[in-house]
Amino acid sequence: MKISPKVWRNGEFIDWDDARIHVMSHVVNYGTSVFEGIRCYNSKKGPAIFRLTEHMQRLVNSAKIYRMDSGFDREQFCDAAVSLVRESGLDECYLRPVVFRGLDENNPAFGVYPLNNPVESYIAAWEWGKYLGDEAIENGIDVCVSSWTRFNTNALPAMAKAGANYMNSQLIKMEAKLGGFSEGIALDDRGYVSEGSGENIFLVNNGRLITPPLGAAILPGITRDSVIQLAREMGIAVEEAVIQRAALYLADELFFTGTAAEISPIRSVDRITIGSGKRGEITKRLQEEFFKVVLAERPAPNGAEWLTFIHEAGAGQTVTAN
Ligand code: PMP
Repeated sequence: MKISPKVWRNGEFIDWDDARIHVMSHVVNYGTSVFEGIRCYNSKKGPAIFRLTEHMQRLVNSAKIYRMDSGFDREQFCDAAVSLVRESGLDECYLRPVVFRGLDENNPAFGVYPLNNPVESYIAAWEWGKYLGDEAIENGIDVCVSSWTRFNTNALPAMAKAGANYMNSQLIKMEAKLGGFSEGIALDDRGYVSEGSGENIFLVNNGRLITPPLGAAILPGITRDSVIQLAREMGIAVEEAVIQRAALYLADELFFTGTAAEISPIRSVDRITIGSGKRGEITKRLQEEFFKVVLAERPAPNGAEWLTFIHEAGAGQTVTAN
């Protein structure tokens, strides 16, 4: 795996080996972080970051919910990401911005109350292949419904992509993997389908897409939004509705969406075969359009600007694919 030798920290570049924190940092003890996962694709027009503005807006939103003032705004984070990709020399990579509470060694504060701890911002980057395995995109994956429940949004707001949320995701993922599945699907506290440990989920029923609403304790996924927009443009109806567990088994097609997972078909749930047990036709069509957009082989729906080209654009400037 190739890793960017430089890391962006609070407005400057440092060496990978220097990107370290104290063990008594607030984040280590209490999970005080918000982060993003962003892909840069090696598109037809060179490296291009997918939906950079939306990701950085979600980062800023997550930080706001947790009263973390990084001192950087959305545009500054976008510029930093573009500069980091340029510095890294990588044609394609996964970007990981993370904002967390560290430790002021001159004035340490070790309690739960976070506001006396400094806020630190970092962006790292590395080459990351297919998250759910190279075969997943075509053949689909076997998943289970988790015995763990997705957290209630009044306990941990799902709208924030916070590090602490991923303790719940880790329980789901460990149970799935150790049980011989690739991924787990969590139900929400009412028993309705929520999402995977790191992906949103879609059902295809009679040619329509159905996905849980934001109220089902899901992260407002940017790939989810991209698929909804692509589907509508393709004339495929999309409904955001509560979904019972059993409806997963009866779906014609099922797939996950996420920055890391992209669009990954699901071929079985709890060892029950979904549809024909292979990637479905609508899933395939959506994947094809999605990959064309990220590789700048076609424009985004409604003329939206989804790609930030690293070499053609000025820092942070977004260019429409055509
Ligand atoms: N849900 C969870 C819990 C996730 O971690 C992710 C990955 N960020 C997603 C959904 C998908 O979100 P996105 O498409 O913005 O990557």
